[in-house]
Amino acid sequence: MYRYERVDVPDGLRLHLNENTAGCSPAVMRALADLTRHDAAFYPDYAAAHEACAAWLGVSPDAVLLTNGLDEGILAITAAAFAREASPEAIVIVPAFDMYAAVADALGGHVTEVPLEPGFTFPLAGVVTALTPRTRLVWITDPHNPTGQPVPPDAILQIAAAAPNAFVVVDEAYADFAGTSLLEARAFARLPNLVVGRTFAKAHGLAGLRAGVLVANPPTLEAIRAIVPPYSINAWAARALPAALGDREYYAWYLAEAERSKALLYAVFESRGIEYWRSAANFVLARPANASALVGALARKGIHIRDKSRDPGCAGCIRVTAGVVAHTQAFIAALEEVLCGGE
Ligand SMILES: *Cc1c(COP(=O)(O)O)cnc(C)c1O
Repeated sequence: MYRYERVDVPDGLRLHLNENTAGCSPAVMRALADLTRHDAAFYPDYAAAHEACAAWLGVSPDAVLLTNGLDEGILAITAAAFAREASPEAIVIVPAFDMYAAVADALGGHVTEVPLEPGFTFPLAGVVTALTPRTRLVWITDPHNPTGQPVPPDAILQIAAAAPNAFVVVDEAYADFAGTSLLEARAFARLPNLVVGRTFAKAHGLAGLRAGVLVANPPTLEAIRAIVPPYSINAWAARALPAALGDREYYAWYLAEAERSKALLYAVFESRGIEYWRSAANFVLARPANASALVGALARKGIHIRDKSRDPGCAGCIRVTAGVVAHTQAFIAALEEVLCGGE
């Protein structure tokens, strides 16, 4: 039985869900302030949001499907992939974002777990070996969560070519921070089973509004669109998107903060002799001496990080969001206190 975990924290500094710790662009708040009572009363119009998303991603509008967060995209892809199949299978590379297996399992599919190779290397051979005639779905996260490792684009293309009857989904929730995307190669145009997922929850700071997008060949997208309700994005999220995407300065500033924060995290882990992995995303995975005790001690100081020690292959690991530099410095100060026994 697979379930996703929801980690709610009452207050304090949230460095446990890879959110934008600065909040969304102020331009979003100005755009939302313009909404009227009728915007609340009427079903939303997605034209502006849809167009802004397609332009921002550099793809044609008919290759874009807006979803209520990428999570809804994950649900819709799985439902579309498994529909009318007697015993569908999904391949999940573990450790993985919880939703993939939870949704596949809840929809009656069989989940095949393929572990990352040592050093968190992408398991291309393992995935290809795990493919069966019943495989309908392959989940790939690039950059990978929770390890932060980038996935070689060639490996993704090889899998898509080897599994023509499966949706090969590339979850690019953190691609903003990596600065690269499979969309650049337009691979989805020649590989109709390839689906790229993006979210505006992370770099754009819209997690609370819920906005994500799927990109694929238009006929592929049709099968998924059939499952997404017609008004799944609310009017506030729809209005927020063009404003968020239009404020490139804020976006660039935030990416730079995350980059500087990662450098600070690497430095403190190094100086403390804590094993860590350089990350292409906005978080860093590390293996301190006593992960669970450390997570608890930091939480008592109001700093929330994620205990990843139960994730396959991640024994003893924590994951820390790299956002605003001042927040990272607060984490580092608290970490130093805990490590010095000054709790
Ligand atoms: C955060 C995250 C998501 C969810 O995005 P939402 O748009 O908030 O639903 C999807 N995939 C991965 C890998 C994530 O880390």
